[in-house]
Amino acid sequence: MRIFFLAACLSIGAISFPLSLEAQNPGHTTTHPYEDGPYIFFENGQAIARWVTENGLEEDTLRDGRPAKIFSGAFDAFDPAYLDLEDTFQPAPTANFKKVSRVAAVSDIHGQYGLLIRLLTAHQIIDNDGNWAFGQGHLVVLGDIFDRGDEVTSLLWFIYKLEKQAEKAGGMVHYLLGNHEIMALKGDLRYINKKYRYTMAAMGMPYDKLFGPDTYLGRWLRSKPVAISINKTAFVHAGFSKTLLSLGLNFDAINSLFREHIIDQPEDSILADPYLAFLYSEDGPVWYRGYFEEGFTKWQASEILGRLGERHIVVGHTSFHEIVSLFHNKIIGIDSSIKNGKNGEILLINKKKFYRGTLNGKLIRIK
Ligand code: CA
Repeated sequence: MRIFFLAACLSIGAISFPLSLEAQNPGHTTTHPYEDGPYIFFENGQAIARWVTENGLEEDTLRDGRPAKIFSGAFDAFDPAYLDLEDTFQPAPTANFKKVSRVAAVSDIHGQYGLLIRLLTAHQIIDNDGNWAFGQGHLVVLGDIFDRGDEVTSLLWFIYKLEKQAEKAGGMVHYLLGNHEIMALKGDLRYINKKYRYTMAAMGMPYDKLFGPDTYLGRWLRSKPVAISINKTAFVHAGFSKTLLSLGLNFDAINSLFREHIIDQPEDSILADPYLAFLYSEDGPVWYRGYFEEGFTKWQASEILGRLGERHIVVGHTSFHEIVSLFHNKIIGIDSSIKNGKNGEILLINKKKFYRGTLNGKLIRIK
């Protein structure tokens, strides 16, 4: 074990620390370049919070009823009041939700915390203090919070808090896993922001260990689904291909296969099983791009919807400048390039009508 950690440190040590994040990411600024966290680890029956400041690594053992020293105001997205150290992070008992009054969906945020806050505020999903204001509505975060941008940790704690607040109001936040969640949990670091290499070095561990099964956010992430349905509209990060549907898996089965047999399993064992190998492939539900390829027809969309027993499919993953609709809302693509940090849209569904919600608060009906 010691050898492993030494090796990890050495390999991380080879990466030079960013002196300025702006220089590493042109056009990209951050107020606190060296602050990241907190990450909460369950070790020897204790919950230990670790976070990084410009002074280096700090830590604190969390105990219920005692204020933690972590909260110097550095992490505005993290509110200790919403922590539940006894939480067993059970997945939602169902992937099907009905009679939901209002639905909002946003996708592929990729570390752009500030832009998400502006978008949610513009459409009264949250109030001016960043608290849930969507009542009994459901907000779908359609995957890919991770990678590219430099405010991933803040986003995770913010969505976590919003989920708790929504639950209290009779609403729900559904955070679905995208391919970048799967990549982060499996240690594929090709797209991580340089900032997190600094965190890895300070913590002395690879990025996926910050979200391992013995961490607070790691356990929370492992409870998340890949596919859900709300009011006969299916939500999935990338899409359901015809081949996927031929496997005859319902959403609950897809969700539990990802949870139990893909996230924490080595690639060899995934690839050895034809079902898992397909789910994990380029045509699987978090990677597929077929709806937006040339030659995809209305007839094919109808056939997929018929097989699913759904009326609409909402996906992210394939980027456009705005929310796009295919075949009278049979398929709606909501990755509106928030990742570029400049603009983005949120999908709003109210009384079976679909709207693009813009950054300045406008609603544009899509048909
Ligand atoms: Ca994606």
